[in-house]
Amino acid sequence: MKLIRFGEPGRENPGLITEDARRLDVSSFVSDYDEAFFSNDGLPRLKHWLKENAASAPRVAQSVRLGSPISRPSKIVCIGVNFRDHAKESKMEIPKEPVIFFKATTSLVGPNDDLVIPKNGREVDWEVELAVVIGRKGSYIEREDALEHVAGYVLHNDYSERVFQLERGGQWVKGKSADTFAPLGPFLATRDEIPDTSQLGMWLKVNGVCRQRSSTREMIFDVPTLVSYVSQFMTLLPGDVISTGTPAGVGLGMKPPQYLKAGDVVGLGIDQLGESRQTVVAWQPITTDTVSSHPAR
Ligand code: ZN
Repeated sequence: MKLIRFGEPGRENPGLITEDARRLDVSSFVSDYDEAFFSNDGLPRLKHWLKENAASAPRVAQSVRLGSPISRPSKIVCIGVNFRDHAKESKMEIPKEPVIFFKATTSLVGPNDDLVIPKNGREVDWEVELAVVIGRKGSYIEREDALEHVAGYVLHNDYSERVFQLERGGQWVKGKSADTFAPLGPFLATRDEIPDTSQLGMWLKVNGVCRQRSSTREMIFDVPTLVSYVSQFMTLLPGDVISTGTPAGVGLGMKPPQYLKAGDVVGLGIDQLGESRQTVVAWQPITTDTVSSHPAR
């Protein structure tokens, strides 16, 4: 199945893309794709519900905005330097163990929402990534059991502000966590849709010019290894995201480095996970009367 969330930011409803590319509203079956949904056998129950209700479920117009296909998770864990070609371009050694860092969950947005250059941001960079969504709670997961803990996969652009990340001291989290820095989607493909994640082509373009073109074949640590590895240090909850690292071709690796500016358009995709597109906009102060902190459903 291909899961989507649609509607206004903070008020998204759950939906599906059917095999014949129709968008369906499934909010009469489930209120959201969140921890409770995944932990209560939501995916098999949804599949069953779909058999009975696909014909009568309300359609969602193609013009309706897509949000992140999952509700805000407990954590977004990212893997650094996990592609051989990217390690080479960054002049970094192949890590002996996966490098992990966090991204604030407030950075999550829809796949085609604007990318906002953060206040004082100067070096905003792109990173096409395969993200894994956890479906079953686990800690100390064995590698051979790891995929049983995976709900599915989703396209992610791990936006990064390189000055915040590399020159402001401390952890990379500073450069990874601004609002809009984690566009996820267009859809979550359930694990059965992609039995093999080791051969997926991935690409990213800036203003139509190809910057990243690689494959998950370049990954140093594969998906089962990463799920198992991260779970040695923290409990993974249903809905949590593990983003598995980016291939060569980021702005930081260019000579001279190139970063995004307002007006740029970033397009990206991964085989079987669709495409997304973000327009870069400058940061602007928000006046108090327009602040809305994701109103309660
Ligand atoms: Zn990354």
